[in-house]
Amino acid sequence: MRILISNDDGYLAAGLAALNAAVSSIAETFVIAPDRNRSGASNSLTLTRPLRVSTAPSGFHRLDGTPTDCVHVGLTGLMDPEPDMVIAGINHGANLGDDVLYSGTVAAAMEGRYLGFPAVAISLAGSNAQHFDSAARTALQVLERMQEHPLPRDSILNINVPDLPFESIKGFRATRLGCRHKSDPVIRSQDPTGREIYWVGPAGEGQDCGEGTDFLAIEQGYVSVTPLQIDLTRHGQLEQIQSWLTA
Ligand code: MN
Repeated sequence: MRILISNDDGYLAAGLAALNAAVSSIAETFVIAPDRNRSGASNSLTLTRPLRVSTAPSGFHRLDGTPTDCVHVGLTGLMDPEPDMVIAGINHGANLGDDVLYSGTVAAAMEGRYLGFPAVAISLAGSNAQHFDSAARTALQVLERMQEHPLPRDSILNINVPDLPFESIKGFRATRLGCRHKSDPVIRSQDPTGREIYWVGPAGEGQDCGEGTDFLAIEQGYVSVTPLQIDLTRHGQLEQIQSWLTA
């Protein structure tokens, strides 16, 4: 098995090294990651300048672009033969609910899926998460399951792992995305010359975090596995909009 690994925290991130160390025990890995932290990059592609790739001392490929650029360049320009799947992570922090719309980790997985490969995004929940070994072992379990029971090639799994010792994790749960409260307002400050600067504030707490959600699984100590799709169409409102347009 050949696996492309990427992330959005950059090529030096502990989560990337932990994931590669685990996955390379059962598969041939190819790691390509952004040259800096690109968390929050979502699905952005760099279209206005060329991209450059270099090899880090770790052997990882680092690219001066977004997570989506990394997977795109890796799959269409560098990896030969093609991989069997794409894994992104281990993200430093959860990707729950609405986070998936902003996440570069999830975007890297989506790009793998766009290009025709099953894809997994894996994140370690917690603001200062520590148990990367738990997430790495979880990734291995998921990979082994996928080898024994392959999923359709258009599958994207968004996996979140609670920040607990591996033995304390209660198991797996298939979940739906919950959603967060509105994020905190932007934080306004001044630079040393007195000009206004702004920092985007933290994400809100869970709002829809009840039964069946990814938020609840994590809170209760389970690995959350959410199958994602790309179609954002609100199918249930199609008829209403059609009649609204002709009213
Ligand atoms: Mn990140």
